[in-house]
Amino acid sequence: MGGAGSTSSGGASALAGGAAGDSEASNPGIAGGLSGVGGSTAGDDGSADGAAPVADAAPDGSPPVSGTLRLLFVDSEGGQSTVLQLPNAQVLVIDTGNPGMRDGERMLAVLQGELGATEIDYLLTTHYDSDHVGGVPYLAARLGIGQFLDHGATNAPASYLALANAGTRRSLAVGDALELGGVSLDVVSAAGAVIDAPRSGGGLPNPFCEGAQAELPGDAVDENVNSVGVVIRFGRFDFLDLGDLLWPREHELACPNNLVGSIDLYLTTHHGLTRSGAPQLVRAIQPLAAIMNNGPRKGGGGSTWNTLALAPGGENVWQVHRAVAAPAAQNAPPDQIANLDEGQADAANFLEVQVESSGEFRIINPRTSFSKSYTSR
Ligand SMILES: [Zn+2]
Repeated sequence: MGGAGSTSSGGASALAGGAAGDSEASNPGIAGGLSGVGGSTAGDDGSADGAAPVADAAPDGSPPVSGTLRLLFVDSEGGQSTVLQLPNAQVLVIDTGNPGMRDGERMLAVLQGELGATEIDYLLTTHYDSDHVGGVPYLAARLGIGQFLDHGATNAPASYLALANAGTRRSLAVGDALELGGVSLDVVSAAGAVIDAPRSGGGLPNPFCEGAQAELPGDAVDENVNSVGVVIRFGRFDFLDLGDLLWPREHELACPNNLVGSIDLYLTTHHGLTRSGAPQLVRAIQPLAAIMNNGPRKGGGGSTWNTLALAPGGENVWQVHRAVAAPAAQNAPPDQIANLDEGQADAANFLEVQVESSGEFRIINPRTSFSKSYTSR
């Protein structure tokens, strides 16, 4: 399926610069691309698909999928929060940004303003650093939370445990597979461990392991290592979010065999900081597109950019923020950056991804209405 607007720039061609251009010509090298894609506005395609839902069987024989999956990446200034509207309209929130009103109100603006949500069905906290768990009290005071998902009680703040234990709480372990609201969620890391058997479609020898660094000398092992890492599957579409998982665990997931398999959309691990984002993983999963949850001066640029520029190709990197200290050549094209400024001029825009049951997905920058479409493998 796929509406007229979602003719694809995706597939392998996205890696080779086949993605559609920008009608505003900030990317003159690839301007004038595929019809109906560049510069189109948010939501002009999803509704067409939604009007004629057809269940498409996944290639691996898993249950048919239908509907639309939306992922909204909230600007928490270098924290992390993703709001997902699942195909059955339930809401999954992965991480809640920093404590307090600023990030709390930004999440509510997405939850209530964009999705019309009245409650959060599932709240997954990847780990307990304050830029991921901080917003739980603010949200819990304003919206019901159906189920709390986490890596266990180790290092959990008392404020989190009190709320989660008063509700429904489930601790996840590697290898867990959940069905949530029309998507599947595979747990590939949790509580310091990673899967030791491949996901379906994974397990191939990884050529990028040759000469790869298994760890970063002198880097501390801290709470980040406990991050719950998940692959969210919707038909052919695979989204990888490893939280702030540290380099050595990424290495274990990638070497000697790539246990994760190929990924369509990758949320940069650890905000694009260099303690994570091991290239042997990022290159092996071959993401069609990456979203960097960086802040203006946290993550992005430098060696992280160099890794992403190889895979998936710098033209398919999207950023929540411009990395203000990095040169333009180490930032995504401006139309693929949600927020260009810092301080008072920062409008706290989000990025949105809409995924159809066919596997077509579209990344949208509401700031400019620029979007690109991709075809999941
Ligand atoms: Zn973090």
